[in-house]
Amino acid sequence: MKLYSTLTRDKRDFEPAGDAVTMYVCGITASNSSHVGHALSSVVFDVLHRYLEYRGYAVRRVQNFTDVDDKIIARANAEGLSPEEVAEKYVQEFFRDMDDLNVRRATEHPRATNEIPGIIRMIEGLIEKGNAYPAADESGNVYFRVHSNPEYGKLSGRTVEELLEGVRIDVEPGKEAPPDFALWKASKPGEPSWDSPWGPGRPGWHIECSAMALEYLGETIDIHGGGLDLAFPHHENELAQSECFTGQKPFARFWVHNGLLRLDGAKMSKSLGNLVTVRDALDGYSADAIRMYILTSHYRGPLLYDEDNIGTQERASRRLRQAANVASRADSGKSVDPAPFREHFVEVMDDDLNTPQGLAVIFDLAHEINRGRDAGHEIGAAQAVLRELSDVLGLTLAEPEASEAGLSDADVEARLVSRTEARSNREFAAADAIRDELIAAGIAIEDGPGGTTWSRV
Ligand SMILES: [Zn+2]
Repeated sequence: MKLYSTLTRDKRDFEPAGDAVTMYVCGITASNSSHVGHALSSVVFDVLHRYLEYRGYAVRRVQNFTDVDDKIIARANAEGLSPEEVAEKYVQEFFRDMDDLNVRRATEHPRATNEIPGIIRMIEGLIEKGNAYPAADESGNVYFRVHSNPEYGKLSGRTVEELLEGVRIDVEPGKEAPPDFALWKASKPGEPSWDSPWGPGRPGWHIECSAMALEYLGETIDIHGGGLDLAFPHHENELAQSECFTGQKPFARFWVHNGLLRLDGAKMSKSLGNLVTVRDALDGYSADAIRMYILTSHYRGPLLYDEDNIGTQERASRRLRQAANVASRADSGKSVDPAPFREHFVEVMDDDLNTPQGLAVIFDLAHEINRGRDAGHEIGAAQAVLRELSDVLGLTLAEPEASEAGLSDADVEARLVSRTEARSNREFAAADAIRDELIAAGIAIEDGPGGTTWSRV
């Protein structure tokens, strides 16, 4: 398959260097509820993992949790909890959200606070090699010496000077140069801290990922993933730390970045304060619909948050489910051949994980199944392939859980049939009673020229 790498800025043939694909994906900071932007990144790398397995590779995917940082400490103070309790609460919430989105768990989910010895060893090694230094003011901070690494900037493609333009750099008295960044932060009173050769403190954000990638996947990894907003400075710094420490290049053979979620045209960031949490989205829509909404856009492009689109995907997912489950008369003596669909699916997904086209192939197959059913063809093999390809995208084709009033899709359809009958018999009170029952159950119905459509609201 061909995969785009941010480092080389082109699509290249992907093969793992060893027996299994090694993939490191930057995880969340466990300081708050996950929002749809986190779902976007998780679904993209879940689908990449599933597709690589579908192509016959074993995959080791590691996704970390940042479980100590300023935001977690601030949250702990606000909620009257310890930082450990805050991190644990949001780690568990993340797992619940992602399980419900049918995102498979990574092979390993390491946490920064469990990796302190490896992080300290890495910082010590960087100091020995001249790539890092303890702050001159004896504050207990340790910094990476950016000027010691002539290749710094190669991932984001800019020089150090360009990178610093327009970036606010905190004045830190112990720093040799403005672009240097913290590897170890001395703890302030009341903050969580670990002993180190430089005094009590905690790791900087960037070093934890370098240390965990090394610990769990080795010196060179096949794929490093994360959101495009992490490319600079986080991934640039990770790359510099790892290559300077191990002396092995490249640290990551492919840098895969997903585009970002936009809300009303603006990047969805915590500062906007109008986040849509994963839980909010799951309360309104099925996991299949949310995944399809994400996957109808190519992973490298931006994704606009659009509830109407998710509603459209809800109806589309129903069409897939119906095609997968419809019974056939199978009396024509012919059958629907799914092989060309499978081939086409692999062809488009091999091209940098083109999920919009992969979904289009699945819908073409669903259409062919329906045509074959109407013509009395055998459709069982085609339905099996429909399920197989849907599973590569993590679509369960399961009926969403019944709404609060306990109406399944089939219940709703049955009531709509009764309502149509009542209307054609001019029993309008009975028809209205059915409509009111559906509305009370959270079902929106719309009468159009082509019949009645419905959706869960
Ligand atoms: Zn990271």
